[in-house]
Amino acid sequence: MTLLWRDSWLKPLSDFDVGAEKCSYCKKAFGKIDFVTACDFCEIGIMHDSCANKHIIASHKKELQRKIDAHKDKPLHDYQ
Ligand SMILES: [Zn+2]
Ligand SMILES: [Zn+2]
Repeated sequence: MTLLWRDSWLKPLSDFDVGAEKCSYCKKAFGKIDFVTACDFCEIGIMHDSCANKHIIASHKKELQRKIDAHKDKPLHDYQ
């Protein structure tokens, strides 16, 4: 089993690091190669990358909105 940490770089995790054989969100076992990540907002555990997106949208809308708002004030381009 090779789990790749979804981050700015892909970091392979050993089974020991992971400590789990299945996704904390969908409860399905990880495949031979899977992209995984953890939640920024709680300690749910390691999830498929796509499951983490669903989990965060479903469970952490407020926190997500706060993060979005924190970046809103900064204009992306000076000329706008
Ligand atoms: Zn999953
Ligand atoms: Zn969470």
